[in-house]
Amino acid sequence: MKRFAFAVALLAGCSSAGPDVLSYEEFRSQAAVEPDTGMYIMNGDELVEDDAAMRDLYDRYLDTVDATNDDGFGTTESNLIVNRVNNKDDRWPQSTASNLTYCISSSSFGSRYSAVVTAMNAATSAWEGTANVNFVHSSSLDGSCNARTTGVVFNVRQVSTSQYLARSFFPSSSRRSREILISQSSFSNISPWTLAGVLRHELGHTLGFRHEHTRPDSGACFEDNNWRALTAYDSSSVMHYPQCNGTQTGDLVLTSLDKTGARSLYP
Ligand SMILES: [Zn+2]
Repeated sequence: MKRFAFAVALLAGCSSAGPDVLSYEEFRSQAAVEPDTGMYIMNGDELVEDDAAMRDLYDRYLDTVDATNDDGFGTTESNLIVNRVNNKDDRWPQSTASNLTYCISSSSFGSRYSAVVTAMNAATSAWEGTANVNFVHSSSLDGSCNARTTGVVFNVRQVSTSQYLARSFFPSSSRRSREILISQSSFSNISPWTLAGVLRHELGHTLGFRHEHTRPDSGACFEDNNWRALTAYDSSSVMHYPQCNGTQTGDLVLTSLDKTGARSLYP
């Protein structure tokens, strides 16, 4: 989640005029390189693991441009949308969805550790309360918890960056990428948001949900068309950036359409 994003990269634009096609170098230059991991961050808080993944994304971008030239937006299904990889929903198999284990790095968070444990409990409960998913805090691994920790689906640790408040990953990400990174800035005053609210958004990505504002309905912040709609468009979705014509004004919480969409992907 990026706060006060001035201009989330517009990959293909939202105008009906023919889009200018970016070269690969131009496309890649829209991403920030995360100092901590060397990986790319696109669209505020979405991860692109390496150059091969960036090439894939670029190919999909080119497909999007083609589709946009044909008939407006390639995907016209018009709340919650799921990421698509190789023409399939990017979701966990049910056995994993029922046992999404994670550790929280006690050494990286230091005195903030217990606040993160509490916020993760609140955020995971919100998704568990509506969809058939179960997050499990493997606290015995918190003393040695990083991207190389085995025995968990993902890890949570603190980083120092002004790029984002937090970032996460999609189910299709490799283990070394399956991290929720929380910036120190998330512990300053982020009102009306809370850390739990930011984590509700990030956990949505970990379940496969994309930014709601990439849907043409938002009229802003288009990313790409590699997703499938689960419900009608929802400008107040927990997955919608407020600065992209979003309408959720308080903390980031799941709307009824978010809940409906999550249940449809994980019934
Ligand atoms: Zn996000």
